[in-house]
Amino acid sequence: MQPIKNLYPLLDRQRKIVITMHQKPDGDAMGAALALFHFLKSLGHAVCVISPTNWARFLNWMPGCKEVMDFEMHTDKCRDIIEGAELLFCLDFNSMHRTKRMETLLLGAKCVKALIDHHEQPTEEHFDYGISDAARSSTCEMVYDFIVGSGHADKLDLDMAACIYTGIMTDTGSFRFSITTAHTHEVVMHLKRLGLQHSIIHENIYDNFLENRLRFTGNALLHHLHVYYEYNTALMAIPKRDILRYEIQTGDTEGLVNYMLTIEGIKLGALLIDRIEERKWSFRSKGDFDVNEFARAHFEGGGHKNAAGGRSSESLEANIQRFKEIIRQYELQLR
Ligand code: 5GP
Ligand code: MN
Repeated sequence: MQPIKNLYPLLDRQRKIVITMHQKPDGDAMGAALALFHFLKSLGHAVCVISPTNWARFLNWMPGCKEVMDFEMHTDKCRDIIEGAELLFCLDFNSMHRTKRMETLLLGAKCVKALIDHHEQPTEEHFDYGISDAARSSTCEMVYDFIVGSGHADKLDLDMAACIYTGIMTDTGSFRFSITTAHTHEVVMHLKRLGLQHSIIHENIYDNFLENRLRFTGNALLHHLHVYYEYNTALMAIPKRDILRYEIQTGDTEGLVNYMLTIEGIKLGALLIDRIEERKWSFRSKGDFDVNEFARAHFEGGGHKNAAGGRSSESLEANIQRFKEIIRQYELQLR
């Protein structure tokens, strides 16, 4: 994988470009894709954003979101666009399996492939150009640097600013996680000087849910939370009947895992959701406990040191049992 700056000369003439991100894109994945989309369009390229799956409805306000294509909904059309592309940008993931049903297509695609991402342990051989830096707050912050590094900072506009801010805000927990740096704040300073209205974005993302989601959260906290003080660990396991009863949609469970770390002394929070196709894990930690390694070792996943995810095809109960056995091995680290 060559450094991303070596890719700039390829943008000197008009290209057919596809941008994609991980399945079930979050604020950072969607923000990065749309910011880059607006930027590359402003340079005159033909650009298409393809998401591997659907996304949370609280992202629909984002500028350009209506033009994003869902691969699962428009598979044939997306396939044609990808096969005709000259350049592919992969944002906010670092291994093609995170694009789910697009994986084989992307691995086989003949175009030039570029990576911009901040997750641990990238599969560099999948990409021709790229930047992978786990010390960065968000892919959006990296897309900002990509734009500025191209020498076209003058193209930054309010649409790009709103998209970039969304990813920085969501991935830093509104600037509280330790991954937030002085540079993160400098980026936001620049966006504010462009006229960014940040409080509207907070409302769009965090104050835009249906009543059911709040009742679902209350029910989960009351009935599905288990705290293992001897391991400073909390686990929440959501059964399928709750997903159906409260009509839970993509994005409605985002943030639920963070409640567990609000309990005094808790170092590891784990959320398990019984999705239709698989059991999905989310892990969060405080301090040195590395949930990227934990998710890789036990739950077919990965991510960052303090925030990771995983999956399993075993039942909810089997996962709970296995989790309880596994944390015993980590007693020393979790004390
Ligand atoms: P979340 O718990 O919010 O779904 O994900 C936390 C972090 O871990 C995100 O950065 C996400 O991209 C990553 N992540 C979530 N699920 C998986 C997974 O199954 N595999 C890998 N490699 N990363 C994941
Ligand atoms: Mn991210």
